[in-house]
Amino acid sequence: MAKTTEAEIRSVLSTITAPGGGNLVERGMIQGLVLRDGHVGFSIEVDPAQGVQLEPLRKAAEAAVMALPGILSVTAVLTAHRGAAAQPQRPAAAPAPGQRPAGNKALVPGVKHIIAVASGKGGVGKSTTATNLALALTTLGLKVGLLDADIYGPSQPRLMGLSGRPESRDGKTLEPKQSFGVKVMSMGFLIEEDTPMIWRGPMVMSAITQLLREVNWGELDILVCDLPPGTGDAQLTMAQSVPLSGAVIVSTPQDIALLDAKKGLNMFRKVDVPVLGLIENMSYFCCPNCGHRTDIFAHGGAKREAEKFGVDFLGEIPLDIVIRETSDAGKPIVASEPTSAHALAYAEIARKVWQKLDSTPQRSAPRIVLQ
Ligand code: ADP
Repeated sequence: MAKTTEAEIRSVLSTITAPGGGNLVERGMIQGLVLRDGHVGFSIEVDPAQGVQLEPLRKAAEAAVMALPGILSVTAVLTAHRGAAAQPQRPAAAPAPGQRPAGNKALVPGVKHIIAVASGKGGVGKSTTATNLALALTTLGLKVGLLDADIYGPSQPRLMGLSGRPESRDGKTLEPKQSFGVKVMSMGFLIEEDTPMIWRGPMVMSAITQLLREVNWGELDILVCDLPPGTGDAQLTMAQSVPLSGAVIVSTPQDIALLDAKKGLNMFRKVDVPVLGLIENMSYFCCPNCGHRTDIFAHGGAKREAEKFGVDFLGEIPLDIVIRETSDAGKPIVASEPTSAHALAYAEIARKVWQKLDSTPQRSAPRIVLQ
């Protein structure tokens, strides 16, 4: 079957009339267009005051793209535009951290901020960092949730020492589980362990949306979202569809990982999610016997890269067997050894993250996300 190109998608979208005249493309309303293996995603920036009335426009745009050859799925979302009015094509300005929380309300009403913890590749300690960051945020007196969106390899149940199925009081919404004062939800609670799951694009989104919307999160200051590793389709769709206040990227000092970290950075920039900063994990080695510090990898690479890319460096966590052991035992170091140097390093990172989210005034205009 003939393959549709991005240009053809833009071309068909330019046949749709925009509110107030012109078409969707020339008015610069189509943002973040992604085409991968027949799956298409984009947002339509609209005036927030008109949001709900424009649902037919969204549907028309989806239908027009869906009709193109070889297209398997189309996800279009309406978003409140950032400028005064939809202007002709302009470069996307990087939003400030905390600029998008109003949209969280549409999906999860009581949650002030959703942040993603992401990595360019697997095995760099993203989940371990997400867990300890969530726990460290509670030490600031915040109400914290942890959403394990790593649906391919959910590890939060093990890390947080949780098991069993979540309960539902009303038969509709699931109650998150609680561990060390953090509310936790994970696909790992819902599927059998060792059951391979094959997730296709649209399923991924509906799973994540359910974990956000159909869970009784209650009032939270911050929901930490442990994303699947990498920068593929699933991550991109998620970054685009979950109303994130910001993202934190975890990287090891090895150059190769840093190349991957760059991909992560670019992915969030592409979908206008502010990158709160970079964390260097397994930054140096702490000898468990003598406490001697060895820089096994080129220590400090993440800091240099962060500077080069104009993102903040949030901190470094050493490679220490205690971090692995406490994680494996379901007693993360921030909870089990709160006064240790490593726990304090996580606390410092948490403080920086929260400062960034909390310091930017919330926008009054809602970001509209219609699914
Ligand atoms: P990812 O989510 O990136 O795939 P994980 O958080 O699952 O990575 O970590 C991979 C492995 O590395 C786990 O066994 C974890 O306990 C271990 N690990 C992560 N960070 C550290 C660290 N700073 N020191 C020691 N071991 C770590």
